[in-house]
Amino acid sequence: MLELHGIPVSPGVVIGPALVLDPDGYSIPRCYIAAADVADEFDRLQHAVDVVSRSLEENRLQTSAKLGNSTGDIFAAQLQMLHDPRLSAELRRRITEQQQSAAYSVSQVLHNYAAAMRRLKSSLLAERAEDVLDIEKQLLLALGAVTSDPLKELTHSVIELSHNLTPSETANLDRRFVKGFCTETGGPGGHTAIVAKGLELPAVVGIGQFLDRVGESAQVIVDGDHGTLILDPDEETLQRYLSGQERQRIFARSLEELRDQPASTTDGTRVRLNANIEFPHEVASCLERGADGIGLYRTEFLYLSSDQEPSEEDHYQAYAQVVRAIGDRPVVIRTLDLGADKMGHRPLAENEHNPFLGLRSIRLSLKNQDLFRPQLRAVLRAAVHGDIWVMFPLITTLAELRQARMLVNVVAEDLAEEGVPVRRDIPIGMMVEVPAAVLMLDRFVKEVDFLSIGTNDLVQYTLAVDRSNEYVADLYQSSDPAVLRLIQHSVKVADEAQIPIAVCGEMSSRPSRALLLLGLGVRSLSVPPNALPKVKKAIRTVSIQECQEIAARAMTLESAREVDIFLAERLRELVPELILQ
Ligand code: PEP
Ligand code: MG
Repeated sequence: MLELHGIPVSPGVVIGPALVLDPDGYSIPRCYIAAADVADEFDRLQHAVDVVSRSLEENRLQTSAKLGNSTGDIFAAQLQMLHDPRLSAELRRRITEQQQSAAYSVSQVLHNYAAAMRRLKSSLLAERAEDVLDIEKQLLLALGAVTSDPLKELTHSVIELSHNLTPSETANLDRRFVKGFCTETGGPGGHTAIVAKGLELPAVVGIGQFLDRVGESAQVIVDGDHGTLILDPDEETLQRYLSGQERQRIFARSLEELRDQPASTTDGTRVRLNANIEFPHEVASCLERGADGIGLYRTEFLYLSSDQEPSEEDHYQAYAQVVRAIGDRPVVIRTLDLGADKMGHRPLAENEHNPFLGLRSIRLSLKNQDLFRPQLRAVLRAAVHGDIWVMFPLITTLAELRQARMLVNVVAEDLAEEGVPVRRDIPIGMMVEVPAAVLMLDRFVKEVDFLSIGTNDLVQYTLAVDRSNEYVADLYQSSDPAVLRLIQHSVKVADEAQIPIAVCGEMSSRPSRALLLLGLGVRSLSVPPNALPKVKKAIRTVSIQECQEIAARAMTLESAREVDIFLAERLRELVPELILQ
């Protein structure tokens, strides 16, 4: 048994067989072999090299005959790489000295070669890196170690273990079979984490190198509540987790009765408790858990979950589906937040050194109006059918807000001229997720109908911490006093201007922090669907005065750690059920 620790990003516990993917997404069935199998494993590698060698030679001959020797030479160069004595020596060393499986050594060595070539930043070497990866793939196929896309050919439940998962890869996981995942890289606020929560897949990221320690047909436990990955658990640990899962199920069932109860504090203060979604189908689980509406619909996932760029009609159909499902409850559609860790189909911003400070979000939409206009047209068309609000992400300057608003007007005019029914008085809001927006909020409130604080990005930009970086994950804290001050200021400015303000970042999904937000004056929260019951439970157990006392004390503290210790204490006193389960 081996217990590893990482960053808990999506709650729940899952137990099952591991599917290990190497950094290129290939499935490596086992990484290590028994000492007695070393000679056989080396023979297997030799055989695979012979198979690939014959196939490359055949390609060389055929291509030279059809397209000339210079094209055929591409395969001659690959053959040369395959037979490079340094490569064979390194593979032999790993198999014989480290008892690595042939597939694992091929994957490691060739992947490292390709990465080293890419780092040299020469376009010639970058092309050679692709050749190296091609040889890797062919060798792995010859070793029977890979299928072309192991995730697409699943027939039984697995827990995916991989180096990294992008938000779009996560969005495309087949939920019928993938029951949870762990990655070596990744940070607490990355969008991979957010999608995992949306899909309700227990997940732990940022564990550091561990894939080489996963044994053959390993059984694993992913504890997404505590950030633990257990490889090959012993019987006692397994039983402990199984009974924990049972307790969780019973507790979850006990919260089901809250579904039709309002999210009101004990003194009768009504809090709006909305849900965040990435996909239209999630509306069903929001309603099952009694959401008041959709406080954040991350529409960019329409791009990340399909092979083709969505058309205006695709947008419209998705929004109409959400509105149909939610009835007359409000839906806040956030316009595209592409860029940084969420890339679309075409290269929108290449080679950015600091993509989170680059062409992302509203900046990207304003620069690519052929993407933005179809979305706005679809929003205005869908708004005729329900209570849709539109919200712009990452607004930093007044000019951006004005430009985006103007575009809404232009698009509405176009539609009206075309005779298409549109809703002209759609509420327009912005996310508050950049400190500059907080500082200028007294101006912004004059030009918006509502605000929503995106703490995920606000934390990132206030504390200068990349939200998807495991190395600085300990600094990424929404309970940091600097972040709390920005929230407090924002609520005050919004209240003075009588503009509704919500918090839709992940901060609001942690019950203790949700109570702090109520104490700071927030009366509208939006949380991932699976957090609705516990946040509602917390809200319904406390009074606003208790929340205000929590906030007053928290604002005197000097570090995130002090704030968290204090909040945990207060939650234990006020809502012990949430701590005990
Ligand atoms: C946020 O930044 O808090 C937010 C809600 O948006 P996202 O997580 O999609 O960036
Ligand atoms: Mg954001």
